[in-house]
Amino acid sequence: MIELDGAAGEGGGQILRSSLALSMCTGQPFTLMRIRAGRAKPGLMRQHLTCVQAAAAVCAAEVGGAELNSQTLSFRPGPVQAGSYSFNVGTAGSCTLVLQTVWPALLMAQAPSRLKLSGGTHNPMAPPFHFLARSYAPLLEGLGARSELQLRRLGFYPAGGGEIEATLWPADGALQPFDLIERGASLEAFAECYTPGLARSVGRRELEQLGSELGWAAEQLREGACRQNVGPGNVLMATLKHGRVCEVFSAFGERGLGAEAVAATLVREVRAYEASEAALGPYLADQWALPLALAVWQSGKAAGYTCTELTPHALTNFEVIAKFLPVEFKQGGTGSAFSVNLAPTGSVRVRTDPPQPGP
Ligand code: ATP
Repeated sequence: MIELDGAAGEGGGQILRSSLALSMCTGQPFTLMRIRAGRAKPGLMRQHLTCVQAAAAVCAAEVGGAELNSQTLSFRPGPVQAGSYSFNVGTAGSCTLVLQTVWPALLMAQAPSRLKLSGGTHNPMAPPFHFLARSYAPLLEGLGARSELQLRRLGFYPAGGGEIEATLWPADGALQPFDLIERGASLEAFAECYTPGLARSVGRRELEQLGSELGWAAEQLREGACRQNVGPGNVLMATLKHGRVCEVFSAFGERGLGAEAVAATLVREVRAYEASEAALGPYLADQWALPLALAVWQSGKAAGYTCTELTPHALTNFEVIAKFLPVEFKQGGTGSAFSVNLAPTGSVRVRTDPPQPGP
């Protein structure tokens, strides 16, 4: 039984989600104490509880402490079961984080899975749908696991009600790690704005401001295409496509925050990325570690990446991953260029569940 302290490092929900994902992938049970102790309202919030329930459904786990506000959880996974699943956060909590919790296990399953996820699709402090679809999913495909993601309905705080559909195909054999040292040549850069339930002029002002600060042309400034939503919301996103990686940065509007301030936040993120030559921005740097470590573990091959920042999220995630997998993390660097190297340290051990039927 692996024992984890939810107060360690960054002390947030990612410790829980990474533990669930890795427990499902490796078959190792865990207990987590002091869940989200680093947050003002510790314990399982609606979004975290949905992650636990989703993980338990995918691998028929025995679970203790799966209740709202619970600060202790025990999780004993059964075999991962590919299939058709529907998970609803029930609030505006991020459903992309629910998807990220079960995704690694399902890409190691024996058959494809279809998922329908409801909740927030564009939340501050979580990966927006477009980040998952454009940045995260293509990297997983590089490891050998294809997926298709569709945004059916936008979901913003406070109404939620967004909907995502995902089809996840398992890898054909072991996941294969690869190095991501350079981002590659710049292929495309554009911004888009979603302002459901708000005046269109809000989005136009944000785009114009961003365009003028970054020197982007009119055709690089777009209104978002998804027209379905439940409540109002506002996200401004910048997509920077390079030969080896695509980054999506985002900034959120809220009451009392001017369009110019939203644009300025996003401009800072884009400039910070452009000021570095590293491959991954700060969010991919923490999220890429888990799937890459799975591939290193399964294949027995080392791999690494460079990133613009090593956040407390990333460092905490490395520690959680190293508790579940025989993989050693080595990181270095300063300023705006860091490197992370993962090396296998133990024997390659793949779950041997019996084949499961498809969806
Ligand atoms: P809490 O902090 O309340 O525990 P949480 O469960 O939502 O919240 P965190 O532990 O803070 O989770 O993890 C948030 C995750 O969302 C991290 O993996 C982080 O990289 C990712 N993330 C945050 N903002 C963005 C963004 N703008 N784009 C992509 N990913 C993001």
